[in-house]
Amino acid sequence: MPADATGSESSSEDATACLRDARRLIVKIGSALLVDETTGQIRREWLDAMADDVALCRSRGQEVIIVSSGAIAVGREHLGLIGRPLRLEEKQAAAATGQIRLAHAYQETLARHDVTVAQILLTLDDTEERRRHLNARATIDTLLKLGAVPVINENDTVATSEIRFGDNDRLAARVAQMVSADTLVLLSDIDGLYTADPKRDPSATLIPEVRELTPDIEGMAGEPPPGYSSGGMVTKIAAARIAMSGGCRMVIAKGKRMNALSALDRPFSDGGAPCTWFLPGAEPRTARKRWIAGHINARGTLVVDDGAAAALSRGSSLLPAGVVSIDGDFQRGDVLVVRARDGRELARGLSAYAVEDARRIMGHHSQDTADILGYRGRAEMIHRDDLVLS
Ligand code: GLU
Repeated sequence: MPADATGSESSSEDATACLRDARRLIVKIGSALLVDETTGQIRREWLDAMADDVALCRSRGQEVIIVSSGAIAVGREHLGLIGRPLRLEEKQAAAATGQIRLAHAYQETLARHDVTVAQILLTLDDTEERRRHLNARATIDTLLKLGAVPVINENDTVATSEIRFGDNDRLAARVAQMVSADTLVLLSDIDGLYTADPKRDPSATLIPEVRELTPDIEGMAGEPPPGYSSGGMVTKIAAARIAMSGGCRMVIAKGKRMNALSALDRPFSDGGAPCTWFLPGAEPRTARKRWIAGHINARGTLVVDDGAAAALSRGSSLLPAGVVSIDGDFQRGDVLVVRARDGRELARGLSAYAVEDARRIMGHHSQDTADILGYRGRAEMIHRDDLVLS
């Protein structure tokens, strides 16, 4: 099938995407890369080279989040659960054992670069339920601001089958969407999306760029061939869909080689590693704002004074001091309509407070809200990143 019939670029010469221009970067590392299949041990040399790459990204001002698999693969060996498929509870037991070792390995290897590691274990619910989503996002933002590298995995020990991602491809994409990352790297055991299964079809060619997930592209993912990592291409395409809808570009590249991340620093056409880039139409912030603007069911209304209305039009956040009345029943993270005193709709945005607390702090200066509420909340009623002018 010709590549240009698939929504992709027609030749690798056109592909210029690379890692250097990423600002907030998520790197997903699969078990097959990190853990030696026969011994169940962490491949330290490989991990050290990865940590060197992560430190390099950070030294040029890029924020890095790691989503790492491997807990089950490492833990099963230590519990003697080998040579047969595991039941769900055995996988969960293996993850409980392996996750400690995994976190420790990341801590050790990044400490060589004086980088602090922070472990975050998430379930599907944490990324889907509004308040938990906002909390997880705020924690990750804070860690990045403080210079730490979050290392994320699914909370395998508590996630039951109905609430499991089961694969870290989609988990990583959800995290990318949640924290408005601009680049997601899926390091895998295959160097990208091919027009057909390259193991069976010698004429299969690598697609360097995908700009739209057409049915043809979906069709190329096929069934996961044996030997490929847990997710296979199907979950990678699902991850691409999630990432692209959040305005995040995604790249699939082969991770087994040393320094697989920095191998993406240059485009393939300029000596970089072969890979497939999935390029979305819009930036993460734009995509996020579109999502907010697209909410038909606002849960409440804030009426603001003229000063706040003017500040909003200049792109500022909405502070509690500028709010004169509140209507509706909403939780933190719900979409609200912001109106001027004359009823005109000014903006829509995500509330940083639930209705009860919002009522208590409206009209007050941000520095007084901690005393009123008994806890230190956000300074803004709606942060400007969560606000779209109507
Ligand atoms: N969360 C699983 C683990 O750490 C891996 C899931 C996956 O393979 O993507 O073992």
